[in-house]
Amino acid sequence: MTQRQLTMCAVGVLLGAWGFLPEFTITMLNYIGLYALVAVGLVMLTGVGGMTSFGQAAFVGLGAYATAWFCTAPAAAALVGLAPTSAALPWIGLVAGLVLSATVAWLLGSVTLRLSGHYLPLGTIAWGLSLYFLFGNLEFLGGHTGIAGLPALSVGGLTLRSVHELGLLTWTVLLLTLWALHNLLDSREGRAIRSLRTGRVMAESMGVDTARYRIKVFVLAALLASLSGWMYAHLQRFVNPTPFNLNIGIEYLFMAVVGGTGHLWGAVLGAALITLMKQYLQDILPSLLGASGNFEVIVFGLLMLLVLQRFSDGLWPSLAQFVSRYLKPAKLANADTPRGLPERQLPERGHVVLSATDVSKRFGGLLANNQVNLNVRSGEIHALIGPNGAGKSTFFNMISGVDDPSSGAVSLLGQDMSGRPSRAYAAAGLSRTFQHVRLLGARSVLDNVALGAHLRGHSAWIASMLRLDRAEEAALITEARHQIERCGLGAQMHETAGSLALGQQRIVEIARALAGQPSVLLLDEPAAGLPHMEKLALARLLMQLRDEGLAILVVEHDMEFVMNIADRVTVLEFGLVIAHGSPAEVQVNPKVLVAYLGGADAELMT
Ligand code: ADP
Ligand code: MG
Repeated sequence: MTQRQLTMCAVGVLLGAWGFLPEFTITMLNYIGLYALVAVGLVMLTGVGGMTSFGQAAFVGLGAYATAWFCTAPAAAALVGLAPTSAALPWIGLVAGLVLSATVAWLLGSVTLRLSGHYLPLGTIAWGLSLYFLFGNLEFLGGHTGIAGLPALSVGGLTLRSVHELGLLTWTVLLLTLWALHNLLDSREGRAIRSLRTGRVMAESMGVDTARYRIKVFVLAALLASLSGWMYAHLQRFVNPTPFNLNIGIEYLFMAVVGGTGHLWGAVLGAALITLMKQYLQDILPSLLGASGNFEVIVFGLLMLLVLQRFSDGLWPSLAQFVSRYLKPAKLANADTPRGLPERQLPERGHVVLSATDVSKRFGGLLANNQVNLNVRSGEIHALIGPNGAGKSTFFNMISGVDDPSSGAVSLLGQDMSGRPSRAYAAAGLSRTFQHVRLLGARSVLDNVALGAHLRGHSAWIASMLRLDRAEEAALITEARHQIERCGLGAQMHETAGSLALGQQRIVEIARALAGQPSVLLLDEPAAGLPHMEKLALARLLMQLRDEGLAILVVEHDMEFVMNIADRVTVLEFGLVIAHGSPAEVQVNPKVLVAYLGGADAELMT
């Protein structure tokens, strides 16, 4: 049995048993489904996207209150031209709740997501509290008493009065959501989302607008919370502010963390565990201890600590690992026919594609780059060398948009790039690697490299969720495979990038850069840590790329490697260009010899 078949089986069993399960069980399942919907939004936000939110309960409240107001206030019904008893009102309430939540999330997100470190969670606490108090203090929302008398939902003429009926809706929505999010994560857009947590600088260099993706994930999580609030309101037929307070917001986060923040099903597991635990502890503890009181909160807290201590990634990964021993691995093959990717026309050979004019960079009192001038031409390997701390990596950051020069100009294929972000450089045709490798260590080599082709695909989120992106996805994966094989890492394609030797990880970065089909390639110490034979293979690859017309700028310490492949060499020392010319000229330049070896009679190459 494969994992997919197991999931289908479980869903089938649940569906078959549904009618026979007692009302209490179904009620619990209903709540688990509703909580899981919020928690799965948090998995996307926190575990996948790296943004911690304590405030999700407030979005559940927005969804619940929106529908409560439309369904009970005659003025609201009149506003949309419907009778106060119309069965369409809950649906108007749903749309209103989603629009409201998306708008509020967008506004809150544009302010709070700029915050870094612990300021972001603190920000979510602040607006979580504000929205909660807002619900309680608005007269037209019934103040702290709330709004009663919500109608039952009706779907296509069928009124969902019992928990059995409503529960079917809850779980259908939850399962469809899981399917859609699973699809989303398994796509070009998903790769970009996964890079948000630990790889934002890198993702920007691959052309991903990370700020935009962060807001979109934030809005997505808010929409799921709001949807849950809508169903919750029609299950309870009554809303008041209590279920939307900060405590509950923290509980949602617990569900996601205990289940496993990095896994969609972890949300369902976490929601189930916490809902059941709360229920049973409430019943059992007082009789066990012979006294009444909120003991469950204390025990709950202790259990939480225990779980987090023992399973820092949540329970789902351990469970999945256990179950997978008995499952057949899923087939990795993508059966879709790849659709052609856009191809970039390389500039004419010898054409200056990247030019830096008087680029300076000051870090406090240190002038790391001092009026550096450098031109990179297509069909040429240009080496940038210099002792450690000379400012080579700094210069790379200046000419790839990762950092802005203090002064000076950079132009790429004739465009002035001043003040442009690194994703604009990627869009213009520049790809780079990083001296300190920036890969998503837990993802496969294939996944990492496919992110490099991000800008060559166009599928949007909805298309990815509905699996309409498959032809494009197949093309991106085919391209990634091709680049990995070309770089000699075919055997490691499906291994996690973090498990490779550091030298190989650098090669993965090169493959990723090539997947973007650049006109200019910047390589920061690509040969460091590579065994001799692999260095030779890398040199051959770079010369082949040059012959194809690519412009390559390479920083490297291995002089034999550099001098063999470079057409031109620029030497940097203390941020200043001290020499420039062919390898032969540079090797006999007295300034260079002094800089490297401290003596004019020393030889640079041995
Ligand atoms: P290289 O790559 O040639 O070894 P770098 O460009 O990494 O050199 O560093 C050049 C100098 O700038 C070094 O003295 C380094 O300490 C300093 N430097 C680099 N980045 C920063 C930074 N973000 N803040 C302050 N100083 C920096
Ligand atoms: Mg460096």
